[in-house]
Amino acid sequence: MENSRLSTATLEHFRAVLEEQRAELLQQRANHEVSLAEVRVARDGESDDEHDPEGPTIASEWSRLTGLQEEAARQLTVLDKALARVDDGSFGICARCGKPIGRARLDARPAAELCIDCARLAEKR
Ligand SMILES: [Zn+2]
Repeated sequence: MENSRLSTATLEHFRAVLEEQRAELLQQRANHEVSLAEVRVARDGESDDEHDPEGPTIASEWSRLTGLQEEAARQLTVLDKALARVDDGSFGICARCGKPIGRARLDARPAAELCIDCARLAEKR
């Protein structure tokens, strides 16, 4: 089974990729925070006029941004778990069947927990 383990160099490569993605996400999240703060100000400044044309726009922008924030938080969790797997040596091993995850799949989705076969099975359910 030892041959299913990724080399240290490969693990370090993916650690760097994952950390880069994580840094990008944190940056995105910070940007969304700024936008949310602006929307909050705009919303608080809204007049009581029910026909305020800005109303629905602010509401939809708010839900769009909070949706993005939730998605970023989800992805951060996934990346953190992947980084933990790099640390404990289980990175690159399918969490379901224990077989190695193909390199092409890891290159495309470094945070993947499942091999392509298990991922397909999981999607069917
Ligand atoms: Zn699998």
